[in-house]
Amino acid sequence: MLHNIEPEQYHCEYTPRAAAPADYLMAFRKNEILLKNVENGQLPQVADLPDVRPEALRYLFSISGRGFFLAPDGTPETDTLSYRHTRALRTVTPLWMAFAGVTAYHLAVWYGRTRFCGACGHEMAHKEDERAMVCPVCGNIRYPDMSVAIIVGVRNGEKLLLTRYAGRTFSDYALIAGFCEIGESLEDTVRREVMEETGVRVKNIRYYDNQPWGYSQSLLVGFFADLDGDDTIRVDHNELSEALWVPRAEVQDRSRDVSMTAKMMDAFRRGLI
Ligand SMILES: [Zn+2]
Repeated sequence: MLHNIEPEQYHCEYTPRAAAPADYLMAFRKNEILLKNVENGQLPQVADLPDVRPEALRYLFSISGRGFFLAPDGTPETDTLSYRHTRALRTVTPLWMAFAGVTAYHLAVWYGRTRFCGACGHEMAHKEDERAMVCPVCGNIRYPDMSVAIIVGVRNGEKLLLTRYAGRTFSDYALIAGFCEIGESLEDTVRREVMEETGVRVKNIRYYDNQPWGYSQSLLVGFFADLDGDDTIRVDHNELSEALWVPRAEVQDRSRDVSMTAKMMDAFRRGLI
């Protein structure tokens, strides 16, 4: 999965330092990221943008000693660097570079939404000793936001419940997923999402794995569960275009995809679940 970058080591601790030419420069424009104009894309380094002022860069994190810095808004394209949709990161290699891009995107979205205090409207400042924004007027502190979401593979014997989203360009089949509501346990979210989207009940909910997923600024928690009772599907057409029971042998091979949905579908396809 995207965050399984061993033997590389991700360090999220907030230990700001000055950027060096070999550090990586993370520049975003809405949902696009600045990448080198090479096959499969590569992250630019500070030295690739000689006009950028080092003091304008914000330290994000490090991976095995390499620093990653957020570039200011409006960082321009060059002859060798172009903005591309962040989904291009899913095929960037090595994997640590793809993970860094998606994780930096999560932080860039959060910094962009935390410029002003939600309580009093004053401009926020970075806290010096940890990753947080603080309001100098009312003292409001905002730590990085991360939604919790579930993904669930519902089994019906040798079949898996797969869905396709309505109104999205991502047309491959996927598992049921949804955000946890306030006051709800993970298992309650699993039961509610499956019922809302497909109208079936589940039992034997069991934890599978989890994945930080910066694309949606979330932490995905994966479960498998078994159908409980009637297998008649009633699709919520506001959320999904289709939901169906797919026999094990017909589940798509998505073993090259870095998402947890793909990993879970692949585990079922290969008979591991
Ligand atoms: Zn305030």
